[in-house]
Amino acid sequence: MSRDCIFCKIVRGEIPSHKILEDENSFAFLDIHPLADGHTMIIPKDHIERFEDVPPVQLGKLFESVQRVTKSLKNSLKAPAVTIGINNGHAAGQVVPHLHIHVIPRFENDGGGSVHSIVKISPTRSLEEVVRLLQSALKN
Ligand code: AMP
Ligand code: ZN
Repeated sequence: MSRDCIFCKIVRGEIPSHKILEDENSFAFLDIHPLADGHTMIIPKDHIERFEDVPPVQLGKLFESVQRVTKSLKNSLKAPAVTIGINNGHAAGQVVPHLHIHVIPRFENDGGGSVHSIVKISPTRSLEEVVRLLQSALKN
């Protein structure tokens, strides 16, 4: 837990939130500035800044909550689709330094794009070079 983190304060109940669900590791609440009705964020209860820092044993429960929220959005708000996304790190647009998984209900003609619309520059390396680099990193 981090004393000053706004999402840790939400988990501790020190500031109000619109809670959707909670289990031993995860907590889900409505985004205060929703992009659509039902825009929800799922967070680990521990203060973990980035996705790659989540202990692997906690990932299953965390994503079970993401799935439960997704199903509830489909069944209650009749969202035919959702975008599930993490702004993971400053360059990706992360503002609150406590991991949060956005689940954003999506509707036909809602004016939004797919994940393919979020980056505007082109890659520079060949796919072969990238495979070599990643595979060697995965060995460590
Ligand atoms: P980002 O770090 O870019 O993924 O964005 C942080 C998200 O947290 C934004 O969508 C905010 O609207 C949301 N947010 C910030 N403070 C609160 C809060 N107190 N309760 C609910 N959502 C919040
Ligand atoms: Zn925190």
